[in-house]
Amino acid sequence: MLPAQVMQQAQQEFLNWQNTGCSVMEMSHRSKEFIALAEKAEADLRELMHIPDNYKVLFCHGGGRGQFSAVPLNLLAAGSKADYIVSGSWSKAAAQEAANYGEVNTINVVEEVNGVKQVKDSRDWPLTSDAAYVHYCPNETVDGIEMFDIPETGGVPLIADMSSTILSREIDVSQFAMIYAGAQKNIGPSGLTIVIIEQSLLGQARKETPCIMNYQLIADNDSMYNTPPTYAWYLAGLVFQWLKEQGGVSAIQHNNQQKAELLYQYVDRSDFYRNGIISNNRSLMNIPFWLMDESLDSKFLSAAKEQGLVALKGHRSVGGMRASIYNAMPLEGVQTLVDFMKAFEQENS
Ligand SMILES: *Cc1c(COP(=O)(O)O)cnc(C)c1O
Repeated sequence: MLPAQVMQQAQQEFLNWQNTGCSVMEMSHRSKEFIALAEKAEADLRELMHIPDNYKVLFCHGGGRGQFSAVPLNLLAAGSKADYIVSGSWSKAAAQEAANYGEVNTINVVEEVNGVKQVKDSRDWPLTSDAAYVHYCPNETVDGIEMFDIPETGGVPLIADMSSTILSREIDVSQFAMIYAGAQKNIGPSGLTIVIIEQSLLGQARKETPCIMNYQLIADNDSMYNTPPTYAWYLAGLVFQWLKEQGGVSAIQHNNQQKAELLYQYVDRSDFYRNGIISNNRSLMNIPFWLMDESLDSKFLSAAKEQGLVALKGHRSVGGMRASIYNAMPLEGVQTLVDFMKAFEQENS
């Protein structure tokens, strides 16, 4: 979901952006107007996330999966190894992709205790002391498992796939060597990927790294070595402005906590639905839940759709339902879902 205010502004200036007589998507990325837009978006993101000056912010192509390859190509020198923490399907996919480029030590950290999933304490993870980096995914979008504490790596650079974490809550960027995120979860439309990387890590890319994935080259060219996804960059910029108007990340975090609590509380009180994840690893953004009687799943989905509640089907790999309640989802949206779930429970139990 994108904020309605952002969509309306985009609609208003669709044909005539800032009195230029053309759409922003028709502008050259090298025009002074677009460069000003691009710089403003970066400055706003830096302000929202308090990104320190020794970090570069790159606006890339290729989505989250593009970074699954770009990270090892840029940061895993031939002959070295990396630790990949697996807490769900995205971190697993990242580890599989990286294994095409070098030695990957995969560490599964989710355990099930009495049918409830939880993440093991990071102090007990069997990390490799001489790893080039540790990669993890703080919020597993499909599985609904989130880690709120930053893992202890003993000084090994930490890299995070924050595709569904970025801007949902406050993050201390200085604790990370690199953060990346596909824009389509919590920033804007698909097609844009944000990379936030400590400058000292640039310049290590392998010779065979495709130029459009080479962090040094992208940084040296202000993310315009090739044509960037200009319309997605523009929309991301509007979302950053909207977030600042909402009071920034701390204010949106407060909303997100309220939204998540509302839904989890109802699921926990009900005997009709379950979530199956321990409270301190429950995602703020992606809330999976299952009907106790899974034969009612399709009836649930079609009744929900009639009420205008869409995109609730869980990922095909885990089944059940999933409510993705990204920043732009208002509290009333979650309340509407909970009211519907209550009514459905009453009618079907
Ligand atoms: C969606 C998602 C991805 C994949 O993103 P694409 O842009 O489709 O490649 C990777 N990681 C996480 C955590 C995601 O949520």
